[in-house]
Amino acid sequence: MPVTTTSEETCASDCPLKHNGCFAEGGPLAILWRKVTERKAGLAWDSAMAEIAKLPKLTLWRHNQAGDLPGIGNDIDVTAMRQLVRANKGKRGFTYTHKPMTADNSEAVIDAIGHGFTVNLSANDLAHADKLAELGIAPVVVVLPADQTRATTTPQGRKVAICPATISDNVTCVTCGLCALASRKSIIGFPAHGASKRKASVVALAA
Ligand code: SF4
Repeated sequence: MPVTTTSEETCASDCPLKHNGCFAEGGPLAILWRKVTERKAGLAWDSAMAEIAKLPKLTLWRHNQAGDLPGIGNDIDVTAMRQLVRANKGKRGFTYTHKPMTADNSEAVIDAIGHGFTVNLSANDLAHADKLAELGIAPVVVVLPADQTRATTTPQGRKVAICPATISDNVTCVTCGLCALASRKSIIGFPAHGASKRKASVVALAA
């Protein structure tokens, strides 16, 4: 499945996983991500959008195995976001964001979903997942403690399904595709993984 990696300055300034359990900060992905951030690997934004636009119709692809929506820190760059949404036209792109849902950011996310590009709102714990779900603008995902590998519920009783790829070798995003379903009601939970999973587990338990 095609995936992109975006430079680190796009990450939300106040993401609690930043340097504190973010899975992308360890292993081979961290090496690639650093190179992209230092502009030693990858493509400029416009060229990357051109490549995405060339993907075959209905391609399932993931924007950002690391990094966040375009824009520095907490802000979404609306112009770049529109380019991204346009490039995805006819495909099944999806991504996740830790950026706060300010009025402007929410508008950009609603517009993206309305035009077929699925943005999942990333929650740091189950209580945060309830808050994001209450917004009613986008599907929600949540980081869970590493040992939470069974379906659970949020404090307000919303269902949280476990990402099947984290518990079965027979499932991949290509065979699952749940994160690309903007109409999805269930929250998807990701048990903390990677080199910093202990730190991420602590964040997930903050509720
Ligand atoms: S829930 Fe499905 S689409 Fe989402 S990350 Fe897991 S396997 Fe991939």
